[in-house]
Amino acid sequence: MSKMNLKNVSFDTLCVHGSGGYDPATGAVGIPIYQSSTFAFKNAKHGADIFTGEQEGYVYTRIGNPTQAAFEKEMAFLEGGEAALAFGSGMAAISTVVLSLCKSGDHIVSSNALYGGTHSLFVHTLPKWGITVSEIDQVDPANFEKAITPATKMIYIETPANPTLVLADIREVAKIARKHQLPVVIDNTFSTPYFQRPLQLGADIVVHSATKYIGGHGDTVAGVVIGKKEFIDVLRGEFLRDLGGIISPLNAWLLVRGLKTLAVRMRRHEQNALQVAKFLQFHPKVETVFYPGLSTHPQHDIAKKQMSGFGGMVSFVLKGGRKAGEKLMNSVQVFTLAVSLGDVDSLIEHPASMTHSTYSPEDLITVGIDEGLVRLSVGIEDANDLIQDLTQALKGIN
Ligand SMILES: *Cc1c(COP(=O)(O)O)cnc(C)c1O
Repeated sequence: MSKMNLKNVSFDTLCVHGSGGYDPATGAVGIPIYQSSTFAFKNAKHGADIFTGEQEGYVYTRIGNPTQAAFEKEMAFLEGGEAALAFGSGMAAISTVVLSLCKSGDHIVSSNALYGGTHSLFVHTLPKWGITVSEIDQVDPANFEKAITPATKMIYIETPANPTLVLADIREVAKIARKHQLPVVIDNTFSTPYFQRPLQLGADIVVHSATKYIGGHGDTVAGVVIGKKEFIDVLRGEFLRDLGGIISPLNAWLLVRGLKTLAVRMRRHEQNALQVAKFLQFHPKVETVFYPGLSTHPQHDIAKKQMSGFGGMVSFVLKGGRKAGEKLMNSVQVFTLAVSLGDVDSLIEHPASMTHSTYSPEDLITVGIDEGLVRLSVGIEDANDLIQDLTQALKGIN
């Protein structure tokens, strides 16, 4: 185990050491991949005691595993929460949290600017089980309060939202939620705890697609939930146990490894994204750029209040609309035309036909996902190469 007092160290150091240091059983400096489905009990009483909770120990990898635990411990530290629980995907994390808080007849108030999969869960899947969701414009916090009914059981927000980079004022929404005694769940995928710590701003539960910046290398799909120990214990002991959306030990290990460089990666993502956003902002063929770090972002002041940096995601609309955007996506050479985000590699995609194709054409308009919107996940390459690539691709567009 680490000899360091992790309470007094900075975020960068926590990223490297927060999973607990070397393995107590072997001294292995890197956390081992405990690739085992089951764990031997010393005797019948030991097994029975672990099941009743009288003794701590591992039973079966769907309920817990040391490699998963190392990742969870570190995520709890980084988000400033009591405990964390890892899942096999961001959607497994989000759907399990929702099902733990809501049952048939219940209602959720959510922002309308969401990852396409979350929107689909809310408007297509949950209604089949009698859970309804009101999706509202998160720019005005009062919209959350207006949508609350006696059946409301939770408030859900994504800030900055995918792909419009619209923000919710976390403190204001949390105040409304507290007044109505509702938990606030925040998808912190875009910022990571490096730039935004929602629990400190009044949120109750943080969810991530760990597939993105947490893993950081585009080599795994995973999710994680951070919150109070009491909540996480129930989530693990009842809902993860029964629904089964667990992470594999190998993927948990990839996330622990990814976290070691989270702070350096996020700084570089942000530096590059700001340069790319500024370049696009002044390009004659670009209509609008969405990046919370630009002073022209309508919510730049909220961004500065609740985020310590603005992340690596940039969206924009070309004057030539969708056709021009398609031509650009076909012409880039350093950027890869692919969905997902948060990788060290730069990615480019078209939300309306790809990640957000779960939105109806009307909903795309309501949420502000222009048909011509192009989304960039700015990687950690040299910013000059990224700008040069966009320059050459933009040349071929009318
Ligand atoms: C990708 C993503 C998800 C879904 O996560 P998966 O790991 O793909 O299941 C949820 N929220 C946001 C903001 C995302 O970008």
